Amino acid sequence: MWYCEVPNGEPLIMEKGCLFCQISSGETDTEFLFDNDTLVVFKDINPAAPVHLLIVPRKHIRSINDLTEADQPILSEMIMVARDMAVQHGVDKSGYRLFINVERGGGQVIFHLHLHLIAGWK
Ligand SMILES: [Zn+2]
Repeated sequence: MWYCEVPNGEPLIMEKGCLFCQISSGETDTEFLFDNDTLVVFKDINPAAPVHLLIVPRKHIRSINDLTEADQPILSEMIMVARDMAVQHGVDKSGYRLFINVERGGGQVIFHLHLHLIAGWK
């Protein structure tokens, strides 16, 4: 584990070798569609639909199973930002899907909590 400083925030717990920790801390050249102290949004590299975004908290949380009471504001912010992203991509009215895969049996591939936003089917 290591810690990442954010401006005006608590140090964040990160996990070594975790792809999404590396992306959210800016170690890769991944383009953020949105970012703030809590989370980042970027495109899925293997899109399952014309619009496929990942909403990823900066804090390393392995999966839904590892959420604590203190993480509640993170989760609600993820949903609110997802909604704003849907508006920004013009799919709020046509419709979109939000989902979270939990552990291997639920299709989770990267073990750092993330919310999928997919949309854009005709
Ligand atoms: Zn991580």
